[in-house]
Amino acid sequence: MSDQFISIYQSGEEQLLEKAVKDGAETMWDRKAAQKTPCGFGEKGVCCRICAMGPCRVSPVAGKGAQKGICGATADVIVARNYARMVAAGTAAHSDHARDIAHILHMASRDGNYKVRDEKKLMSLAKEWGVNTENRDIYEIAHEVAEIALNEFGKPFGTLKFLERAPELRQKVWEDLQIKPRAIDREIATILHSTHVGCTGDAESLVHMSMRTSLADGWGGSMIGTEFSDIIFGTPVPRETEANLGVLDEKQVNIILHGHEPSLSEMIVMASLDPEMQKLAKEVGAEGINLAGMCCTGNEVTMRHGVKIAGNFYQQEMAILTGAVEAIIVDVQCIFPALAKLSDCYHTKFITTSPKAKITGATHIEFHEDNAMESAKNIVKEAIENFKNRKNEKVFIPEIKSNAVVGYSVEAVIKQLDKVVNPHIDPMGTVKPLADVIKAGVLRGAVGIVGCNNPKSKHDYSHIEIMKKLIANDVIVVTTGCAAQAAAKAGLLTKDARKLAGQGLATVCELVDIPPVLHMGSCVDISRILTIVGEVAKHLGIDNSDLPVAGIAPEWMSEKAVAIATYVISSGIDTFLGITPPVTGSDEVVDILTNRVENMTGAKFFIEEDPHALADKVLGRIEEKRQKLGI
Ligand code: SF4
Ligand code: SF4
Repeated sequence: MSDQFISIYQSGEEQLLEKAVKDGAETMWDRKAAQKTPCGFGEKGVCCRICAMGPCRVSPVAGKGAQKGICGATADVIVARNYARMVAAGTAAHSDHARDIAHILHMASRDGNYKVRDEKKLMSLAKEWGVNTENRDIYEIAHEVAEIALNEFGKPFGTLKFLERAPELRQKVWEDLQIKPRAIDREIATILHSTHVGCTGDAESLVHMSMRTSLADGWGGSMIGTEFSDIIFGTPVPRETEANLGVLDEKQVNIILHGHEPSLSEMIVMASLDPEMQKLAKEVGAEGINLAGMCCTGNEVTMRHGVKIAGNFYQQEMAILTGAVEAIIVDVQCIFPALAKLSDCYHTKFITTSPKAKITGATHIEFHEDNAMESAKNIVKEAIENFKNRKNEKVFIPEIKSNAVVGYSVEAVIKQLDKVVNPHIDPMGTVKPLADVIKAGVLRGAVGIVGCNNPKSKHDYSHIEIMKKLIANDVIVVTTGCAAQAAAKAGLLTKDARKLAGQGLATVCELVDIPPVLHMGSCVDISRILTIVGEVAKHLGIDNSDLPVAGIAPEWMSEKAVAIATYVISSGIDTFLGITPPVTGSDEVVDILTNRVENMTGAKFFIEEDPHALADKVLGRIEEKRQKLGI
């Protein structure tokens, strides 16, 4: 099924790229060609420009060429410093996103635009954080919880609250290694301090610091982002949707939501349902308003509302090339600045909304949370009015789309698992059934496949090939980010896809009524994966690192992905990268990441660019873990 599908959608993309040439539109492929051969120093991570004595570039080969920068920094130090700064940037991106969500909970009110939609989740978090809930108004509780979360960013003492959700054995590992993050912003600032010229000059210390900072992302920023988004916008439940560029509709006003923060996209969803907006769409000659998501904002709104998925990272330009998009509305992260010039070739309005991400050439309509609905309506109106400018002769929507089931939050997964619980014998609402099938070997293990697209790899190819191989070998796959959208497009998020699974996994999918690949949300929602892995480990009385689980980023590209990979390792879960990170200029850093770190956290990095070989390595490692555990 997915083989045939992937070739159909690749032919759709080829047609769009041909159209780009015809329309005189520049795409990332033109820019990639213009880059010619990438700089070998940058590729290996051995260039440094953090002070004005430089830039310096050192030889990645020991004993040959310049061995040190002007200050004396070696390749090991330069590579580790660059790596640490990637982790800091990735952590900053997720955490600043989370900070905004926490602010939104702080301003939520019964009659405002932002409300508490999952009271149960709020109450359980309040209890976890020791907030008094007796005889108090739900909004009073929400505001106190939000204030505690906001303090997590800069509190002067203690360590992050969510760390206590991890299995005790894991917390002990962090304690022993002294990598328990203190406050989120503090860890980011400390990395920037320590990587300043003339500060930390030791590769292992820099990796160590990177681990602590990355944990401030996974168990801090990202977890706050996910938990608070669920409280404000609702915890996802399974629902059906469609994915790929074929979800665009010739007869409707097509609006693409791209970026990350649900505070904007949720309001756009609500605004587009407003009768006034629907009426306006009819007045301009459209049949209605068709919203479609892209990248993580797409994941957020599909998880909670079933909004169709237009595509993933690589497809942001493709969507505009269809000539059928009235507006691409963006907030922050993963947005090509190139969209401004590309939109000029069509009638598409490229609308930026965040003061954190203004882009030259875009139409900037600032989104104000304190006036969210009106702000969102203004943006939607701009899109609707642009329908009149669509040039029909330039419209080409490839007929490619696929059905998908999305919405597998931890709560939703546990609810599905309850289907196979005998309440007279076992408690409901736990991960026991999952732990049982893993222990019994019906499922060999569980793997999280996450991350981006990267032009170094054929679009989505690695994502799909790896997923197919793992499910065929009875490994259940959970997925987020652009990897999840790849799975959706390839039909792997359907219950029907259990035909591609091995017998054990297919049986589990049938009994529990789930697809073999579960969409767990956006990139910040990888914290959901941390939670479920932690719950299984706690249930079995072991550490995360003992479990037959792994994380894979087959086509990663962003600094956020580096932060994610680092917190996954630090959480005791092996991580497999399908794109080589810029660290190969230092044998020491490579040795730390792919070898020595295992003695610290119980997990390590594997780097393998061939997706089939990568899947084999994952399967091998899972069996190794099973053997060690005696299951
Ligand atoms: S910090 Fe050292 S290696 Fe980096 S640019 Fe300055 S002198 Fe060169
Ligand atoms: S998976 Fe990567 S490309 Fe996609 S939204 Fe997340 S960081 Fe951006």
